[in-house]
Amino acid sequence: MDSAVRDSRTSGIAYLDKDRIATVGPGELPAERPGTGVGDVCLDVAYTGICGTDLLVWHGGLQRVVPPVVLGHEFVGRIAEPGSSGLAVGAPVAVEPLLHCGSCWACRNGAAHVCRKLRLIGVDVDGGAAGQVRVPAGKLHPLPADADLRTFALTEPTAVAVHMVHRSEFRDGDYVLIFGGGPIGALIALVARERGARGLVLAEPNPVRRGLLNELGIRTVDPDEVAGIVETETDGEGADVTFDVTGHPSAIAVAPLLTRVRGTVLVGGLFGTPPEVPLQPVTLREQRLVGARVYTPEHMDEAIALLAAGRLPVDGLITHEVGLDEAERAYRMLDADRSAMKVLIRVRP
Ligand SMILES: [Zn+2]
Ligand SMILES: [Zn+2]
Repeated sequence: MDSAVRDSRTSGIAYLDKDRIATVGPGELPAERPGTGVGDVCLDVAYTGICGTDLLVWHGGLQRVVPPVVLGHEFVGRIAEPGSSGLAVGAPVAVEPLLHCGSCWACRNGAAHVCRKLRLIGVDVDGGAAGQVRVPAGKLHPLPADADLRTFALTEPTAVAVHMVHRSEFRDGDYVLIFGGGPIGALIALVARERGARGLVLAEPNPVRRGLLNELGIRTVDPDEVAGIVETETDGEGADVTFDVTGHPSAIAVAPLLTRVRGTVLVGGLFGTPPEVPLQPVTLREQRLVGARVYTPEHMDEAIALLAAGRLPVDGLITHEVGLDEAERAYRMLDADRSAMKVLIRVRP
């Protein structure tokens, strides 16, 4: 199948069909589905990442999604048909997969990334788990000509982390506490370290993930031990900035207690059920509870600049790479194996 992926112009797709991930070869698209996305630029996809959002869609956790839809919102590729982009054929690009309405309050006030009617390429319209995909010219972010697209396949999740670090109002010299050692928590740690964190500790229950992050120089601890460590290392004051990207009720239940006076608790996870949050420290310590969702175009560019400068060892987060014909297996594997980090679908490297 690898040679077919390389040789074919369309090379098949991975799409969500009812409750299963289906993979089909070139020319076998479901008749009712053009499988081409929206926009006048056509890309040859190089890599598409799979993340928790994809799993959520797969499990029917996003009511608005209407299968069949080609999945994949974390993708990079090369220009096949430039359309109105003005870019050359073969130019490497990352895609910002956010489609906004242009008229709601957020869109009118410089926050289109949290548009009231936000839709995603690869969730609401066909995305990048395909040989080719059509995207709007305005959603392209050019990459360096010599870019290793495997590294830049992490542009989108890196932009999530960059945006969270900005939203937290993190400052050079801050002590940072992170709950959640998946790709987003890891990328927050790498970005905060690059931006000059004084101290940093990441709480993650899975020992395999902890080991992998330790190899990248990220200090990790079991969540049971984190309170004592933060207490000791901050002289009892608490972390300057605490990130919760777990979406699990156990982290937010302690996050404000481990954060200092006028510190920030950034809430970046999605909670399936409403968690219990201790609000007394929020009041008594005048803390800020701040949300963050996806990223602005500027933060996509900042992620690209960090990756282009080689400042983030993101390759160490890629634990699995599969061909497009193995996408279904990749979904099942990521779903079952909590120690998997970033899983990439390799289309045309
Ligand atoms: Zn994602
Ligand atoms: Zn809008």
